[in-house]
Amino acid sequence: MQKGMTIVYPVHSGLYINLTNRCPCACTFCIRQKNDSVYEQNPLWLEHEPSFEEVKAAILSEDLEKYSEFVFCGFGEPTEALDVLLQTAEFLKSKTKKPVRINTNGLGNLVNKKDITPLLKGLIDSVSISLNSSDPKIYEKNCRPKFGQESHGAMLEFAKNAAKFVPNVTMTTVSTTITHEDEKKCRALCQKLGVKYRIRDFI
Ligand code: SF4
Repeated sequence: MQKGMTIVYPVHSGLYINLTNRCPCACTFCIRQKNDSVYEQNPLWLEHEPSFEEVKAAILSEDLEKYSEFVFCGFGEPTEALDVLLQTAEFLKSKTKKPVRINTNGLGNLVNKKDITPLLKGLIDSVSISLNSSDPKIYEKNCRPKFGQESHGAMLEFAKNAAKFVPNVTMTTVSTTITHEDEKKCRALCQKLGVKYRIRDFI
């Protein structure tokens, strides 16, 4: 495994922020199992988890005007590093009007043992949650969350609560990985929760 200190990395027109390698899941499809990076970037395995000062320095080394959005997304679940995430989002809001997004597995409330969604208000513009399946059993089999059976329900609750504080909340599944029947159920579930549903392309 190749490690480095890739705290920020460009993806398309966004600047992605890699805060942590910690994650409560062990998804069978996780890119980390076979790769040390994505999009042929430097390794996203971190030598150590960056402090807020390190994240700030990494962001300031970039021309922020070049990017259309800032995204907390890396080789781990961003809400595992909640304090640094919130400080960084606040810093970004002081520097730019560009939108800030979190890509998450939606288990941040279980990770942090509290409802973290009110903390996102005014700091985060979008949350993208990997729903994976409408079926808790399929979800558990594929994502292998350390919190077990309560995980799927907690993720749905996180999405519903996040929609109260964050303007854009989207739940996603990956095309070709679940049945059309399951996709229909996912869409209905998202409608009920008051969030958007998107089927992402398989990469
Ligand atoms: S939630 Fe994301 S980082 Fe964590 S194991 Fe699954 S795919 Fe990998």
